[in-house]
Amino acid sequence: MNETNEVKTHKFKAEVTQVLDLVVNSLYSNKDIFLRELISNAADALDRLRFESISNPSLTPENYQAKIRLIPDPESSTLTIWDNGIGMDKSELAKELGTIAHSGSRELVEKLQQVKEANGDLQLIGRFGVGFYSSYLVAQRVEVVSRRAGSSKAYRWRSDGKETFTIEAAQRDDVGTSVILQLKEEHKDYLSEWRLRELTKRYSDFINHTIELQVERVSKDDKDKKEKSFEAVNQASALWTRPAKEITDEQYDEFYKHLTHDYEKPFARSHFAVEGKQMFTALLFIPKRPPFDLFMPDNQHGVRLYVRRVFIMDNCEELLPQWLRFVRGVIDSDDLPLNVSRELLQDSQIVRTIRKQVVRRVLDLLAKKAGDSPDEYLDFWRVFGPVIKEGLHYDPEQNEKISKLLRYESTADQGLTSLPDYVKRMPEGQNSIYYAIGTSRDIVANSPHLEGLKKKGYEVLLMTDAVDQWAVESLQKFEDKPLVNAMREDLKLEQSEEKAGDTSADKEPKDKQVKEKSEAEIQLKPLIERCKEVLSDHVSEVRVSQRLTDSPACLVIPKGGLPAHIERLLRATQRGIPETKRILELNPIHPLVKRLLDIQKSDSTSEKLKEWIELIYDQALLIEGSPIPDPQRFATRMTQLLQTAVEAQQ
Ligand code: ADP
Repeated sequence: MNETNEVKTHKFKAEVTQVLDLVVNSLYSNKDIFLRELISNAADALDRLRFESISNPSLTPENYQAKIRLIPDPESSTLTIWDNGIGMDKSELAKELGTIAHSGSRELVEKLQQVKEANGDLQLIGRFGVGFYSSYLVAQRVEVVSRRAGSSKAYRWRSDGKETFTIEAAQRDDVGTSVILQLKEEHKDYLSEWRLRELTKRYSDFINHTIELQVERVSKDDKDKKEKSFEAVNQASALWTRPAKEITDEQYDEFYKHLTHDYEKPFARSHFAVEGKQMFTALLFIPKRPPFDLFMPDNQHGVRLYVRRVFIMDNCEELLPQWLRFVRGVIDSDDLPLNVSRELLQDSQIVRTIRKQVVRRVLDLLAKKAGDSPDEYLDFWRVFGPVIKEGLHYDPEQNEKISKLLRYESTADQGLTSLPDYVKRMPEGQNSIYYAIGTSRDIVANSPHLEGLKKKGYEVLLMTDAVDQWAVESLQKFEDKPLVNAMREDLKLEQSEEKAGDTSADKEPKDKQVKEKSEAEIQLKPLIERCKEVLSDHVSEVRVSQRLTDSPACLVIPKGGLPAHIERLLRATQRGIPETKRILELNPIHPLVKRLLDIQKSDSTSEKLKEWIELIYDQALLIEGSPIPDPQRFATRMTQLLQTAVEAQQ
């Protein structure tokens, strides 16, 4: 059999079958979106051909005019979406329309399947966009005839969207692609002229290519005859080139959906033109929800780059810093060359200037949203906050702007709070902003490290994102207030703060406290020495605590050390991270500590005391959310202690 009439059957990859099943059986009350998806694909194909023709002009014939055509045929009940774009060859048809390339998508599909099985909310799928497969919302069978630009061969892909598809040789005069939808009985209304006009207007008016609709009209020459012709149905001017005041919110939203496949409106947008030495237009969007791969290492991000209205590339990362990877949109530069390459982008002064402006505009936009609609902003922050915090580390020159966008939980229990609001609540005399870091709000809020601060009426910010540690260390200060980690060894409550902030009746002068501390240190020395000896493998130092009021002990982080949970996280992913020994602090006024001291004094080698010291250390680990080295031994000791306590009750 020669290639011309061989029909090859292929099986869809499992994840495609799952997507198709979701599309057909459970998805989208709004079936209309198939048209937006297919027109989007056609427009992308035209853009790609225009771009490839820059370096290879022979790809487009003379008098070539890029077009998308919608051809309804009531006789055969088919709707064809035709383009003369880049087209696909045989292997591209099999790959692009038979697999889902992105590994993250595969995971998402699995998740969706589970959601479906649990009868959950399938809106999630909108975040990933089913693209071509949305054809099956309205079609029982789909045929794709395509000819790759530069080739004379055309191929037909055909499938009923179940298990398999076929590919065979075909004929096509022009390069490009036709997607032919065999409409389901109940969806034949998509053949109507006014319906197609209305949908194209609504979804695709801003596409910068002409979309023509085939219509049937009574012939001018012969009133009894009907003639077919094409009529343009869109404005075919790129949305971002139109003046902002002429664009409606709905058009912006539709453009955003076209660009991102998101089913929801964006959270915010900014449309601006920069004139001067470098000229560019930008239309930027901030989504409401994160893409599924926001935290995956191979996350594709960036904006779509155009040069003088010619599409250059998708996901242009160079125009956005990594910490704004959720921003979507279009940037159209007047100054970059058309044959711009990735290398050129990487060290282009033009790109650096654009990027700076983009960062500034996005941060201003977010600040405005935070002011105008604080509740919506908090929803946004909960999702994208951890990404923006990365900016504190990577772009320290933006810290002033970023710091006003930050929101944290705090001991003031007012929900998420901003740094300016924290500062407003600071009692007179408090000079620092205190924070504590851990794995969950409750663990951090109840941590003994905060006891002293709470007693003084000082609010503490509670940080629980993995990035918080290095983000906040890059910030260091807000306005003129240093940010101080309440869990570090060098936590100091200054005298002025003590005086003004201390609301308790037993306010004491600083020198008296220092004296008391060194006295306590002298008194506690035998116990401290014993603890050092017993715990020498685990802690670097043992000393008297100033921060504890109710708990007997806690572990604090030495200078340069990392919080325990961050260190664990790092060690899980990287080899050779040494374990930092932390510092054990003892509360000298706690009855338990006092009693242990007595025991040490009366029997300096007491075995029981050794066990209790180990128990106190284990407890300190548990309180901060760390695993204890020997849970079995811990449990046995607790049982023994409980037994003694119970027996003492009898
Ligand atoms: P997406 O557009 O999000 O990549 P789709 O499922 O819509 O996903 O399409 C998959 C791929 O099929 C596209 O990336 C593109 O390579 C190819 N494709 C789809 N439609 C066309 C078309 N009209 N012309 C050329 N290629 C197309």
